[in-house]
Amino acid sequence: MSNISVLGIFVADISFSGNKIPSAGETILGNNYNIGPGGKGCNQAIAIARLGGKVNFISKIGKDDYGQLALNTLNQNNIDTSTIIQSSSHQTGVAGIMVDKQTGKNAINVITGAPSTLTIDELNKNIDKIKNSKIFLTQLEIPKEVTLHSLKTAKENKVLTFLKQDTAYEISKEFFNNIDYFTPNETEAEFYTGIKITNEKEAKEASIKLLNLGLKKVIITLGEKGLFYSDGNEDIYLKAIPVKAIDTTGAGDAFNGGLAFALSQNKSIKNALNLANQVAGLSTTKLGAGNSMPLLSNLDPI
Ligand code: ADP
Repeated sequence: MSNISVLGIFVADISFSGNKIPSAGETILGNNYNIGPGGKGCNQAIAIARLGGKVNFISKIGKDDYGQLALNTLNQNNIDTSTIIQSSSHQTGVAGIMVDKQTGKNAINVITGAPSTLTIDELNKNIDKIKNSKIFLTQLEIPKEVTLHSLKTAKENKVLTFLKQDTAYEISKEFFNNIDYFTPNETEAEFYTGIKITNEKEAKEASIKLLNLGLKKVIITLGEKGLFYSDGNEDIYLKAIPVKAIDTTGAGDAFNGGLAFALSQNKSIKNALNLANQVAGLSTTKLGAGNSMPLLSNLDPI
C-alpha cells in the first residue's frame, strides 16, 4: 500500500550535453546525449521510491514507445502504476533539454502530450489513492482545474499537500489555501513576490509575501546556494552540499521527493530539509532527471 501519491506527468527527456546552450540560430557540436525518464511528477515519484518510499503515480500516457519507457521505468523503480491511464489516441510527452556541461544549467522545451487531456472524471477514478495517502504531491503540469480538484480533495481528507510548479504562472488564492508545502525556485518566487532573491534576507522577505498569500510552509530553493524554509515562526537556511554539478535537471523534483519521503518517515523539518538537500545535490551529479535520483544508501545518515 502506497502512503505517498504523486499526480503529474511522465515525459521522455532527450538531453543534449555540450559546452554551452546554443542561442537562437546557432548550431554547436555537443558531447553526448541521453534519453531517459522525466516530467516533474515522474521524477518526484522515482526520487521517493529510490529512497524506499511506497508511492503511486497518477498520470496519463500514450500507447507508444515512450509510454512503454514510462511503464518500464516506473515498474523497475517499484512505483505503483495501477493509477496510470494509457490512451491510444494521445502521445506520451517528450522534452528537449539542452545542458551546459560546464555549469549543469539547462534550457527545456516540454510537450506534455497525453496528460494535457486528463479530466476530473478520469482523476476521480483514482481519487481514493489520494484520499488514503499521508502525503500528496503535484506540479501544475496537468490541467489547472484537475490540479485544484486534487489539492482540495487531498486537504479535505487531511492529506499533506506539496505543489512544485514547472514554470511560474498565475494561480488563484484557492490554490494557495490548499497547499501545505510550496517550493518555488528563485525565479518562480520572484514571479509571485516581485522580489529578486540574491541572498538570505531577500529570501526571507519573499517567503513572508508568499506566506501572506495563504500558504502554510514555503521553501525557496536557491540552486547551488541551497534553500530557505519558513513557516512564519521558524526559518531555516541550508547551504547546498558541495558537489560537481553536471546536470541540474530535476534537482527541484529530487528535493521535493526527498522532503516528502523524510516527512512520511516522521522526520523533523530540519532533518527532512537536510535529507532533501542531499538528495537534490546528489541528483545534479548525473546526466538526466529521473535516472539521476540517488538511493538512500548514497546519503549521509540523518
Ligand atoms: P529547480 O530544479 O526547481 O530549478 P533549484 O535549481 O533551486 O530548483 O535546485 C533545487 C535544489 O537542488 C537546491 O535547493 C539544492 O538543494 C540542489 N541543487 C541545485 N543545484 C545544485 C548545485 N549546483 N550543487 C548542489 N546542490 C544543488
